Amino acid sequence: MIANSSSPNTPLLWHTLGAHQTLEQFQSDHKTGLTTQQVAAHLKQYGPNELVETGGRSTWEILLDQFTNIMLLLLVAVALISGGLDFFDWKAGKLDPGEIPFKDTIAIFAIVILNGLLGYFQESKAEKDLAALKKLASSRVRVIRDRKTLEVDSKDLVPGDIMLLEAGGQVAADGRLLEAANLQIRESALTGEAQAANKRVDADLPPDTPLGDRINLVYQGTEVLQGRAAVVVTSTGMQTELGRIATMLQSVETEATPLQKRMQLLSKVLVSGALGLVALVVIGGIIHLGTGSWKELLEVSLSMAVAIVPEGLPAVITVTLALGTQRMVKRNALIRKLPAVETLGSVTTICSDKTGTLTQNKMVVQLLHTSSTSLRVTGDGYAPTGEFAPAEAQTSAAIDPQEQPELLNLLTACTICNDAVLQQDKGSWIILGDPTEGALLTLAGKAGFEKDQWASKLPRVAEFPFSSERKRMSVIAEVIDADPALVDSPSHYMMFTKGSPELILERCTQIQVGDRAQAIAEAQRQLILDQNNQMAGRGLRVLGFACKPLTAIPPEGSDEASERELVWLGLVAMLDAPRPEVRDAVARCRSAGIRPIMITGDHQLTAQAVAEDLGIAKPGDRALSGRELERLSLEELADQVEHVSVYARVAPEHKLRIVQVLQRKNHIVAMTGDGVNDAPALKQADIGIAMGITGTDVSKDASDMVLLDDNFATIVAATEEGRVVYTNIRRFIKYILGSNIGELLTIGAAPLLGLGGVPLSPLQILWMNLVTDGLPALALAVEPAEPDVMKRPPHDPSESIFARGLGAYMIRIGIVLAILAIGLMSWSYGYAHANLTAEDPHGDRWKTMVFTTLCIAQMGHALAIRSNSRLTIELNPFSNPFLLAAVFLTSLLQLALVYVPFMRSFFNTHYLSGSELGICLGVSALMFIWVELEKLAYRWYAKTRK
Ligand code: ATP
Repeated sequence: MIANSSSPNTPLLWHTLGAHQTLEQFQSDHKTGLTTQQVAAHLKQYGPNELVETGGRSTWEILLDQFTNIMLLLLVAVALISGGLDFFDWKAGKLDPGEIPFKDTIAIFAIVILNGLLGYFQESKAEKDLAALKKLASSRVRVIRDRKTLEVDSKDLVPGDIMLLEAGGQVAADGRLLEAANLQIRESALTGEAQAANKRVDADLPPDTPLGDRINLVYQGTEVLQGRAAVVVTSTGMQTELGRIATMLQSVETEATPLQKRMQLLSKVLVSGALGLVALVVIGGIIHLGTGSWKELLEVSLSMAVAIVPEGLPAVITVTLALGTQRMVKRNALIRKLPAVETLGSVTTICSDKTGTLTQNKMVVQLLHTSSTSLRVTGDGYAPTGEFAPAEAQTSAAIDPQEQPELLNLLTACTICNDAVLQQDKGSWIILGDPTEGALLTLAGKAGFEKDQWASKLPRVAEFPFSSERKRMSVIAEVIDADPALVDSPSHYMMFTKGSPELILERCTQIQVGDRAQAIAEAQRQLILDQNNQMAGRGLRVLGFACKPLTAIPPEGSDEASERELVWLGLVAMLDAPRPEVRDAVARCRSAGIRPIMITGDHQLTAQAVAEDLGIAKPGDRALSGRELERLSLEELADQVEHVSVYARVAPEHKLRIVQVLQRKNHIVAMTGDGVNDAPALKQADIGIAMGITGTDVSKDASDMVLLDDNFATIVAATEEGRVVYTNIRRFIKYILGSNIGELLTIGAAPLLGLGGVPLSPLQILWMNLVTDGLPALALAVEPAEPDVMKRPPHDPSESIFARGLGAYMIRIGIVLAILAIGLMSWSYGYAHANLTAEDPHGDRWKTMVFTTLCIAQMGHALAIRSNSRLTIELNPFSNPFLLAAVFLTSLLQLALVYVPFMRSFFNTHYLSGSELGICLGVSALMFIWVELEKLAYRWYAKTRK
């Protein structure tokens, strides 16, 4: 099929071919595109349009990273020292008969390896999941195929496809321009050049033109900053320029969250603490106590070193964050950067766009005004069926639009100054493109206007595209066969302009009355503004329309000068109903201490009406317009920012200022955005949120989170999940670290009490930290939300993880656990020595009793810690079945350590009689009771303070 030497595998010379020649290479056509059969054949020949990711860490790097963890290194040191001790015993023949030498060493190494592998699997799965999730947000591309415009997944593009580009999109494949209007493309991903490149169709380029100067081609991965274009795809997938240098692809971001970073720091502190303690015990033991041998002191220190380090914690945190992102995606919030999960929990302000996020973005035109008529329009959705009737009349005395020249011109403007496509899909009417423009096509359709018919009468020859800054757009059409009412001077071209009514009106000097244009009077201007305000005050979205006859096509970039002296045509108002779930979401925000703010490009009155309806604006709240905002200094804005809940008619750069000022006031800001120019504000915000459906690729790239359904309620749901994750992390941190403190104190007390021997061996401690603490901790990570999770104020993100009583709780609970264990230890030591048995000739089973008590007490702790304020009997025991299963399984395993002989000999435990086990269980139960009593005391305290 490809005759030319420039096959898709050597995409070097496409720039030397003309548009027609390029189309011929693929037997494609600019207007009709490829046929379905051609697409299938090309897909088979060239494969899907996908890049093979080569970025990110290699398997080895991920694996090796696991073993650089300082806690694992400490364990390795313990294993080696303990191996050394065993070695001397073994050499001196001091091992008990049947005892396995180097048991601790082997077990610790096994655990180190297991932990490393577990970490490796978790991390590589997390990277893969994140990559897969990112693909979920993969972009859709507009193409022409089989004479129709449709949207396809970018991976389904094939060479020869006619791809349509518009501002904000990322170019999904390499291609040759067929048509371009004001096209500006940022190619920094490819050439490193930050400056936007102006592209042109008719450039004649020599073969040796460097990549950055090939202005008739567009490249995959680059961004359309401005304008529109039609392109024939020349290469896809790995054959594109980007594919050829695919290593440049952004690697998946697995940035550590602030909490993970703090925990890494904490483990360093704990490890240094452990080493310090070892030194202290050894020195203290030698100088003061004089008890035991060197070896015994060393064993105590080794056990203490293992006890202080929460070996299971990093894994549990990683799993919790990963589960959090999974839960969020189920609720339509796609996390792109892991730290966002945590930051979400501390958001204090949500700045949201209006259109599509708070409202449904399903526009239906309801009213229109021309110079002499005011009409209401009937009909629902995008179906072009409905009638025009006088706005004031109660009856639906339908009028014929064909008899109203003003209306005809207004509807012509609606059709021509429009980039959307209205079409039928499986019986229902859908739009491709901007819903505002879709609604205008539907409106025109109700009067029998079809866009296709106009293409031959008034073909588009140039345009000044829409942008949120300009708040307007113009299309210049060649007049080939138009209604005489449209043109009252011998012009060859007609410009149609639409946009924000105030702005369009400012640029008008004439108004169409009947089939004539006449100078616009001040009273007419005032009437139009009044009509605009009146409709906007009802929450309607209003657009103004104008036209201008031209004798020549205006040059590119002359919009400021050309869009002047326009002829006013009329106003069109559409209803964009609020999303029904948003009102409730706003109320939830408020009770959670989060302030919702609306930032919109729309009219102030429209914005205020919608904001009041949804509960975003409270009585007394102010609305600020973009113009007012511009006049304020940062300091002045900072004074007002707490009272403004609506920002209207703002441009994207205003969003950046708003975020900065809110952040200055110590707010944690989540900010939505969809356009190219929203990217800086999204980056600046603590949580940048892009729209999954209507958002541009550029905004998605700059965001931390993508809303798959563009819905405000999803932001609130994600915040709730963020809070649940953070609460659960805090919960298992206090659970795990409390236990570590208890173990540490118990071990340290043994030599102080003059008991010969260490109550817990390193192996037993590892067992506790990883299994009996680890499993319930994992189950606590999936604890469902507490009912008050959205009734509390957000936590301060700079607060220490130990803030709000967590540190005190940990120490308190550690001491309680230690008191129970030490109490039992002092009694059972004497008891075991006084009651020697055949299985325990040396009276060592006091150690097993301490070990069992510590483990089982932690089971009670796990059950009780599910809620901070509600008693366990007040909770539904089955609302976290994982915890029940973990407690059951762990208790069973613990009993196996005592009652299964080979486990006993491996873990150096002793058989316990029924009454001895009963005593252990009884003492353990005290732990559960203590935590429940604490809750009662807390409740009583909270009540008396009220
Ligand atoms: P939000 O910022 O909440 O999404 P918005 O859609 O009104 O609201 P923009 O898309 O920035 O924000 O639009 C700003 C203004 O530009 C609109 O209020 C409207 O007056 C005008 N406008 C919007 N879409 C078009 C369009 N396709 N053509 C011409 N003017 C438009």
